[in-house]
Amino acid sequence: MSNVTPMMAQFLEIKDDHPDALLFYRMGDFYELFFDDAKEAAAALDIALTKRGKHAGEDIPMCGVPVHAAESYLLTLIRKGFRVAVCEQLESPAEAKKRGSKSVVKRGVVRLVTPGTLTEETLLEARRHNFLAAYAEVRDAAAISWIDMSTGVFQVMALPPTRLGPELARLAPSEVIVSEALEARLAEIVTESGASITPLSRATFDSTAAEKRISEVFGVKDLAAFGTFSRPEIAAMGGIVEYLRLTQKGKLPLLRRPAREEPEQIMQIDAATRQNLELTQTLSGHRSGSLLSVIDRTVTSAGARLLERRLSSPSRKLDTIRARLDAISFCLEQADFTDNLRQSLRSVPDVDRALSRIALDRGGPRDLTAIRAGLTQALRIAELCTSHALPDDIAKAADALTGHDALLDLLDEALVAEPPLLARDGGFIASGFDDTLDDARRLRDEGRSVIAQMQTDYASQTGISSLKIKHNNVLGYFIETTATHADKMLSAPLSETFIHRQTTANQVRFTTVELSSLETRIHNAGSQAIELEKAHFERIKETVLAQKDLLGILARGLAELDVVSALAILAREENWTQPQVDPSRAFSIVEGRHPVVEASLRASQAPFIANTCELSAEDNAARLCLLTGPNMAGKSTYLRQNALIAILAQMGSFVPATQAHIGLVSQVFSRVGASDDLARGRSTFMVEMVETAAILNQADDRALVILDEIGRGTATYDGLSIAWATLEHLHDVNKCRALFATHYHEMTSLADRMNGVENATVAVREWEGDVIFLHEVHQGVADRSYGVQVAKLAGLPHAVIERARIVLDSLERDDREGQGPKAFIDDLPLFSAAPAPVAAPVKESEVEQRLKDIVPDELTPREALQLIYELKEKAG
Ligand code: ATP
Repeated sequence: MSNVTPMMAQFLEIKDDHPDALLFYRMGDFYELFFDDAKEAAAALDIALTKRGKHAGEDIPMCGVPVHAAESYLLTLIRKGFRVAVCEQLESPAEAKKRGSKSVVKRGVVRLVTPGTLTEETLLEARRHNFLAAYAEVRDAAAISWIDMSTGVFQVMALPPTRLGPELARLAPSEVIVSEALEARLAEIVTESGASITPLSRATFDSTAAEKRISEVFGVKDLAAFGTFSRPEIAAMGGIVEYLRLTQKGKLPLLRRPAREEPEQIMQIDAATRQNLELTQTLSGHRSGSLLSVIDRTVTSAGARLLERRLSSPSRKLDTIRARLDAISFCLEQADFTDNLRQSLRSVPDVDRALSRIALDRGGPRDLTAIRAGLTQALRIAELCTSHALPDDIAKAADALTGHDALLDLLDEALVAEPPLLARDGGFIASGFDDTLDDARRLRDEGRSVIAQMQTDYASQTGISSLKIKHNNVLGYFIETTATHADKMLSAPLSETFIHRQTTANQVRFTTVELSSLETRIHNAGSQAIELEKAHFERIKETVLAQKDLLGILARGLAELDVVSALAILAREENWTQPQVDPSRAFSIVEGRHPVVEASLRASQAPFIANTCELSAEDNAARLCLLTGPNMAGKSTYLRQNALIAILAQMGSFVPATQAHIGLVSQVFSRVGASDDLARGRSTFMVEMVETAAILNQADDRALVILDEIGRGTATYDGLSIAWATLEHLHDVNKCRALFATHYHEMTSLADRMNGVENATVAVREWEGDVIFLHEVHQGVADRSYGVQVAKLAGLPHAVIERARIVLDSLERDDREGQGPKAFIDDLPLFSAAPAPVAAPVKESEVEQRLKDIVPDELTPREALQLIYELKEKAG
């Protein structure tokens, strides 16, 4: 390695410690990447790959990104699944030179950027949490812990290993850390949830070491200060703390006290159900078109994040649900209060994220003004709250809004209205806050006019009107005259004042004692001002951080108020109603609607037909509704809307119905639609059966199950048999409330044989061989599926439709006559792909002919009546 330059040696040494990350190696105004890192980054970022010097006889590939634009490049790399180690210069080149002319500037990795550890505003979605999760197993027990580093939320939950998938679907973390021993087993589950998996050494998850680590971080003697945690919970939390230390290189972000989430307090919704119901994103992965996008009326980022959490984790605790509903109904009654509240909330910035950047030393003056704006609005809102008797949830949130007067005074006095982004440039401390700073700034700013005055004085003193005072980086300030005045300036008496500095082709340059001392003062004043501002920044930052816990609670209070008032506005605008939620096993929805379908129909000015659902179950018994109906009639919509209403009610929201009575639902399961999962080697039918198996194995008697067309992906008799047995199992074993849509009309006979099973159907009307969808659900059984008519609506070629009608007729006839399914083949006329016959002219009836002749405008009322009698007679 003798021919390796000292800089390259330093690079290789640092890179050695970070083999799985791209190394952003700081060189002046650029982050440079070398070797394979450069090749990968150049391709991923679509930037030029160049080379620099040689290593082991080969060119060294290199690419670079400017430091000022680094964030957007970082974002692209993180999105593409890379991790980036940011390596900074830890001293200036001048400092390095002091150690010897050949010394390389000291560098070190200051941060590892990974998907779960982002804090920059530009790298994060404001309205979504960015969770880093850790999963740990100790013997047969397991736990998952998660943190949003940008807000400090830190939570943990024990869970059986089989529930990892559903929990990841609920949390949607961007990165999951696991012990390397578990990586192979968990890689698929984790990547399926959309997160990247980061394996770490087993020691990271050692629960004994973890206990010590966590206690240290929170400055408590014992973890018991926060509650009793199981071994896996401690291991998972310890994993998070260790990973933060590792990626933040010793600096720890804001961490709220770890809080435990109890799985039995949350409605269980598995990954497939979440997807099918399109709760927070659509099947195609977009937020727009999801339930969340339709119900979100929040006006702050923290409010939007809380709303998403609520919708992802509906509650099973009656007190919690009822308190939330009470708060909404208060907001609806007090419309003025709510409107004023929302007016103030609109100016609330993201206090949580500002705090977390300040804690990590990545904050700037604008983070301080964000906290100031948050506190100002909080005071206004607290004021609003005093004149009302508040329900518990709002009172609790309002309580958190006050008590920061001293901090607010400090921020008000200290900071200008609109500060610059970076503290290092100064200019954010308000004038009048510090006299010394004001003096320094005055001198710095007035320096220019003092110099201008000096120039006038020197011009008159020397009699050289063209004399100028100029500035450059080599000489600093200097006095300049043209060469023609050189002799005069260089001889007494002027030479006693003016000291010669430089002679160029046309100019002669001088300085004076007065000018150099002024220059020093101006220069010092500028740096003194910046130093003073930086010191103030540090002090204010410390004052803010000293109150970080209370500020976190305040931010949470503001988010709660945003969510509650947003849900009230939603209920008001959309005419939603307060659900009655209780411990019974009721499920009675009157005139329910599907919020997303309704919203999309509204865009095309079509009405949504509200439908009632009665699934209230007796104690210890199942209640099932078997829904048959034509294709496109609205079965899936009906199924989904009832599941969504249950979820909305238990997240603590009003619901799209005129009445809703829901006995607590513990789990929602849905198996809707058919999708292949070819990437995982599962066919449509296999996916369907895996999901059905999960439901039958897990649904308890408080579950709400919606099953849409089970058994469609296989042969008719296989499918029917599976659907039949599934329904019986739900009825006899799971004993749950379930909606079951099917095209197997044979199943409707189950309603006669089983208690608690009822048939319902979606009405359609037939008109001239076409079908008109009424979208009305009522009791009873569908007579047929109208599949061929729907296919016609979809634009299947005429020849195919005609042929399908013939096949269908033949099949139905054989069925009626009790023949086997294959008997029809013998009777079936051969298919002819000849162009569709031109429809024979339809012979008009007598009534039609008579109607054609009528000119209504020319009829008297009496003649019209007469005509009706006549037509009636003709029609027989
Ligand atoms: P298939 O059996 O073919 O899967 P389906 O019976 O499940 O059909 P949906 O997918 O629920 O039918 O609905 C078809 C379309 O009908 C929807 O996209 C929607 O536009 C409309 N629709 C459904 N329900 C209603 C309703 N209650 N009011 C108005 N329009 C509705």
